[in-house]
Amino acid sequence: MQQPDATASSDLAVSDSALLRSILETVPDAMIVIDEHGTVRFFSSAAERLFGYTAGEVGGKNVNLLMPSPYREQHDGYLDRYRRTGERRIIGIGRVVVGRRKDGSTFPMELSVGEAHQTHQPLFTGFVRDLTERQQTERRLHELQDGLLHVSRVHSMGEMAAALAHELNQPLTATSNYVRAALRLLAAPEPDLAQVRQAMTHAVEQTLRSGEIIRRLRAFVARGELAREYESIAKLIEEASGLALVGAKERGVKVMITIDPDLAEAPVDRVQVQQVLLNLIRNAMEAMDGGATRELTVAASKRGDHVLVSVADTGSGVPPEIAAKLFQPFVTTKAEGMGIGLSVSRTIIEAHGGRLWMEPNTTGGSVFHFTLPTD
Ligand code: ADP
Repeated sequence: MQQPDATASSDLAVSDSALLRSILETVPDAMIVIDEHGTVRFFSSAAERLFGYTAGEVGGKNVNLLMPSPYREQHDGYLDRYRRTGERRIIGIGRVVVGRRKDGSTFPMELSVGEAHQTHQPLFTGFVRDLTERQQTERRLHELQDGLLHVSRVHSMGEMAAALAHELNQPLTATSNYVRAALRLLAAPEPDLAQVRQAMTHAVEQTLRSGEIIRRLRAFVARGELAREYESIAKLIEEASGLALVGAKERGVKVMITIDPDLAEAPVDRVQVQQVLLNLIRNAMEAMDGGATRELTVAASKRGDHVLVSVADTGSGVPPEIAAKLFQPFVTTKAEGMGIGLSVSRTIIEAHGGRLWMEPNTTGGSVFHFTLPTD
């Protein structure tokens, strides 16, 4: 490919390279070329469609315009550090990051960056793929999913739940048999109270056994011991959102991701916390299916000695009849639901020393919040 002329005006409209222009119009991926100061030098037609800006609007501006906070504020620093130290954070590596459209909505995207050496100054070429567009990225998503244990964990959870439902049936049947026997005994003209007491004692034992089975499920899912490491919560949220938000665009969901720039690292089991986010985001999307306004906000901020993460939707809201037992296992209003997502999520967050709770959203729908201690 012909290199763009580094001395050309940053105004795309006056670029005199007809070849470059034709490439930029036809290259199927969104392609953005910036200089070492982050100034946008070229912006392809696919990039215009993806971000909603025209090349004229972004040409000559800082590329951080296309990023939500906190990346927007950090980007100049990254470039600066790369200039000084040559340390590569993204060049030649490729990562899933969050992009920001002109209308302020954000979306997960895969970014690969190449560097072109020029006599005067380096240029960086970014290729962007919108991960919310399912078909184009199916292959890449499969790779991502393979790498994330939680997907297989969800599968084995399904099998586990089926086995446990079967196992639960037995103590529950026994309980109802003992209670029925007690009722029959009590119906006699002179009930044998010792026998009634014995039947009721057996019923209690069987009920406790059911409780034990449920506790085992929770322990299995939370795996007792956590593989904790200090992780960037911002990055963890970005990755999980990238996966969970696949198909968000087709479902007509507008997504906002707002992450506090001061967000600290926290000692977490990354896969488990990502599973919590995945559960919350999927529930939020399902709650908005068919609704008039579909807005999902994932926010994270630092609060004293912990991080607060919130997933807000403008969906149906939690049905009042289940609000009180929302976090109990096997509570579901969905035909295909297992009702263990929230119960497991709470177990995971509590195992990290945090809290998970729900509040109605002021604009309709619900907000699920959780905290994670930062030390
Ligand atoms: P499942 O999704 O399998 O039903 P969960 O434990 O994740 O299991 O959720 C339990 C129930 O809580 C759901 O069936 C739904 O009724 C309710 N719920 C969860 N999240 C939301 C939400 N964001 N908005 C409205 N209802 C929700």
